[in-house]
Amino acid sequence: MAVGILALQGAFQEHADSLEKLSVKYKFIRNTSDLESMPDGIILPGGESTVQRKLAKELGLLAPIKALIEKGVPVMGTCAGLILLSQEIAGGEDTAFGTLPVAVCRNAYGRQLGSFSATGNVGEISDFPMRFIRAPYIERTLSDDIEILNITDNRITAVKYKNQIGVSFHPELTNDLRLHKMLLSL
Ligand code: GLN
Repeated sequence: MAVGILALQGAFQEHADSLEKLSVKYKFIRNTSDLESMPDGIILPGGESTVQRKLAKELGLLAPIKALIEKGVPVMGTCAGLILLSQEIAGGEDTAFGTLPVAVCRNAYGRQLGSFSATGNVGEISDFPMRFIRAPYIERTLSDDIEILNITDNRITAVKYKNQIGVSFHPELTNDLRLHKMLLSL
C-alpha cells in the first residue's frame, strides 16, 4: 500500500512523518508521472489553497487527481486540502477538485488571531486534539449523505462523504494518528 501526498506547498512532510509512524509507505505527488501507479489513498495537506490550486493546475494535476477521487480512491484533505476538495468557496472563488459537496468559508474562523487549539470528538474518535491555523469552516453541506464528524464553536469543521474526509484542522501537527488511521481504514 502507498499513499500519495500532494507535495506542492504546505505541510506535506508532516503528513509523511505521520504515515511513517504508522509504517505506511507514501509517495509525494508533484507531477502527473507520480500518478502512473495508482495511489491507494491521497492526502491533500494544509498550506495556502490558492497557491496549491494554481500549481496543481499548471502541473496538470487537477483532472487526474479528481478522476482518482471520483473512482473511489480514499482522500483526506486537511485545512487548505479541505478547501481544494470543496464544491463551493464563499465569495465565488474557483474550486480545485470540487468533489466534496460542502461550501466552505476561508480564513473566517477562529479565536486568537485565527489560530487556536481545541479538543473534541471527530466521529467515533474521542478527544482528538485539533489545531486550527487560519482555518476554513464548512458553512453548508450540499448533500444529505455528508456525515458531520465535528462541530467546534458552532461551526462544522470535519466531515466524511463516501471516500472523502475533510477537516479544517491539522491532524499532522499532533502526535495523534487516529485520523490517518481512519483514512487507511477506507
Ligand atoms: N488559510 C489557508 C487557505 O485559505 C488555509 C490555512 C491552512 O491550511 N492552515 O488556503
